[in-house]
Amino acid sequence: MEFRQSSKLTGVCYEIRGPVVDRANELEAAGHRVLRLNIGNPAAFGFAAPAAILDEMVRRLPTAHGYSDSRGIRPAREALVARYTARGVADLDADDVYLGNGVSELAGMAIQALVDTGDQVLVPSPDYPLWTAVTRLAGGTAVHYRCDESNGWQPDLDDIAARITDRTRAIVVINPNNPTGAVYSRELLEGIADLARRHNLMILADEVYDRIVFEGEHHHIAALAPDVLCLTMSGLSKSHRVAGFRAGWLVVSGPRQHARDYLEGLTMLAGMRLCPNSPAQFVVEAALADTSLDALVAPGGRLREQRDAAWRALNAIPGVSCVKPAAALYAFPQLDPEVHPIRDDERFVLDLLLAEKIHVVQGTGFNWPDPDHFRIVTLPEADELTAAITTIGRFLQGYRQ
Ligand code: PLP
Repeated sequence: MEFRQSSKLTGVCYEIRGPVVDRANELEAAGHRVLRLNIGNPAAFGFAAPAAILDEMVRRLPTAHGYSDSRGIRPAREALVARYTARGVADLDADDVYLGNGVSELAGMAIQALVDTGDQVLVPSPDYPLWTAVTRLAGGTAVHYRCDESNGWQPDLDDIAARITDRTRAIVVINPNNPTGAVYSRELLEGIADLARRHNLMILADEVYDRIVFEGEHHHIAALAPDVLCLTMSGLSKSHRVAGFRAGWLVVSGPRQHARDYLEGLTMLAGMRLCPNSPAQFVVEAALADTSLDALVAPGGRLREQRDAAWRALNAIPGVSCVKPAAALYAFPQLDPEVHPIRDDERFVLDLLLAEKIHVVQGTGFNWPDPDHFRIVTLPEADELTAAITTIGRFLQGYRQ
């Protein structure tokens, strides 16, 4: 008898680790060097973990081998309360904080505890596809709201409002955004908060890039909406370059009295996985005090230089345009359909991989409706990134589907 995947997985997609990855692995196994621009993994591009975090991990490891409280160790949760309180999120207590194995695990838990079959969750398009995937896995429907490329990829408030129904339970706000690199304005976040307030929606704020900001200011939507139930998620994967430690957190803010039942469910899910990875919890406090990211983001800093190089090189390709990413680790260029008539963007990504050994992700992998974008990770050194994008431009010149 054949073992088949459960029907729960029907329609669940996660292309960042999807089938093209298998081809990339095969190419590597056959001795090719593949430039992996498909996944935002700083360690793979020579970013070292901050010394303060490694030292703390080594120091704490001998006593970090037991299960912890299922929400995570208290000192780390208290340090997070202090951080978010200092940044304007009101009325927090350590019990409002759940540590997790990255935002990935916590996003799944937050949705699983909330969504019944047929419930709807508003998710941006393009999105970080985890949110659509966990919503579908929970039996819900991800309803995609439009982010407007011609307006710096800011979400379109009217489009969000038009998609709210009596089955809508929550709105996902990814700010700063992956894949677009947009940082949302205060006015826009207040507009989203207002919609949530009027329609009784929970706000699920994915802010894993909140410190990797090149232009503009990042606002926590939880600070702007103290009267709305917000679950703010972030972690150490990107800003602290320790993605493999699987250290993330979720902070509950706003009126909890109407959410007791939901929070009981969330706490039960936290208990079912017993606890998050213990050694990583012990570095959260030290990581929050670490400022080594600042030099990477400042003018002349490596991350900013790479962002600039990618943006310049992409816009130098005929028929390609890219909104300047104000934050995060990605660019999401558009392929002008008049110049590059691509009908199947997964095929394009595969053809690029096979021909040039460069692995990017197709725009439709981010729940973008048209096959006219791709996402590139801006983590390689600027020279390598420029060379890779120039190669993509050359490939595009001769490419026809
Ligand atoms: N949210 C966004 C927007 C991301 O881009 C990523 C990873 O790329 C994650 C969440 C997952 O992060 P973590 O490593 O904390 O699970």
